[in-house]
Amino acid sequence: FAEDFAVRAPTSLRLRERARSTLVAPTHMDRYFFPSAFPVFVREASGGRVRDFDGNEYVDLCGGYGPHLLGYAHPDVVAAVTEGVRRGQVNGVGNLPEVELAELLVAALPGAERAVLCNSGSEAVLLAIRMCRGARGGRAKVAKFEGHYHGLSDQGLVSSWFRFAGERDRPEPVAGSHGADPAAVAGTLVLQYGDVPGLERLREHADELACVLLEPMPTSVVALDPPFLLALRRVCDEIGVPLVFDEVVSGFRVAYGGVQSVVGVRPDLTCLGKVIGGGLPCGAVVGRAGLVDVARSTRDPFQDYERKVFAGGTLSGNSLSCAAGAAVLRRLRADPGVYARLEAGTERLAGALREAAGRRGIACRVSARSSIFSLTFSHRPARLYRDRLTGSDFKATIALAYYMRRHGVHLPELHAFLISAAHTAEDLELVADAFAKSLDEMTAD
Ligand code: PMP
Repeated sequence: FAEDFAVRAPTSLRLRERARSTLVAPTHMDRYFFPSAFPVFVREASGGRVRDFDGNEYVDLCGGYGPHLLGYAHPDVVAAVTEGVRRGQVNGVGNLPEVELAELLVAALPGAERAVLCNSGSEAVLLAIRMCRGARGGRAKVAKFEGHYHGLSDQGLVSSWFRFAGERDRPEPVAGSHGADPAAVAGTLVLQYGDVPGLERLREHADELACVLLEPMPTSVVALDPPFLLALRRVCDEIGVPLVFDEVVSGFRVAYGGVQSVVGVRPDLTCLGKVIGGGLPCGAVVGRAGLVDVARSTRDPFQDYERKVFAGGTLSGNSLSCAAGAAVLRRLRADPGVYARLEAGTERLAGALREAAGRRGIACRVSARSSIFSLTFSHRPARLYRDRLTGSDFKATIALAYYMRRHGVHLPELHAFLISAAHTAEDLELVADAFAKSLDEMTAD
């Protein structure tokens, strides 16, 4: 297998070796989990495909881990970025793309009135938590959910992956990274998505809580539980604690107005990223004025120091990221049928994958919705992240990604698969075909 890859993709392997002497993490997988054994270094990307330096072409289901909903090098994005560069990209001064992006975001999300822009999903989560603390008179504790990832901050990472503790219905917080501040762990209450009785714990801690933070549709298991979200909204209203939706993945991907528009549950704040930057770094916190305005300056900086939540950032709201993001949102807004097409492509492909595994008697579960796929080799359904972690064969998932590379498909080794609006029926058929071939080879080897 290694020899085969070395023959097919020598330049990727050479680049990886070169990168290793300076870069701690040559690829996304190295950055997050483990060194990719068979990395793909991309020379060019367009539509639903990427091409490496040795002329191999892959149908890509990584999608940059989220931003490229329209596919790579979409003409609208290329035009917006080219024009933006030609005009001279600016940051730290007033610029029209920033105003336009903020208007698009606020118009898209139900109940949103204001936006604060930043540079990533992680920053959006950091800012949202701080806004809630500011609005809640300094109450500091954050309630979050096991297996929900919220970016690289110490608190966002608590109980987000790999480790869990406590009973299923009474999880305990665990640090998400070596070196994380233990105070962030102690200051986090961890709940279980879908567990309505477990929401009682929010009442027990109501006086300490700054906010409740969650992915309304958890990416790791691709589950959506509208009654649970309604119950959570009700409890938050009763105890007066702001509800924060992390729609960094789902925002503009599941629907133009995010998961909240699908289930009809309004959060107080929404964290955004990925799609809203059109592939350039961008994040945002959007929400009701009463909350987001804690970051608004008055005329007196000394008085502000006492009551204003700081939300600065050199490149926040830079004209290039905002122009790229606004171009994507305009394209999505002008083509409302795009979501139904993505859903149809997703259902078709998920069906083909299930059928291929089923025909071979392989225990493989595919949960898919609105262009997001979660695939595990497991007999049991995994509603909770901890079930997925203990009950599925991760080595097989990683092996699948490598086998698929030999058949012209670029899957992430460990992440949800994402399709884009640019994937053609032929692309998706190629994926289904490669999957069947890969399963045959994996069971034979
Ligand atoms: N929240 C969610 C749900 C995410 O999936 C991610 C990124 N994968 C983030 C926050 C953090 O975003 P970023 O990587 O842009 O900091």
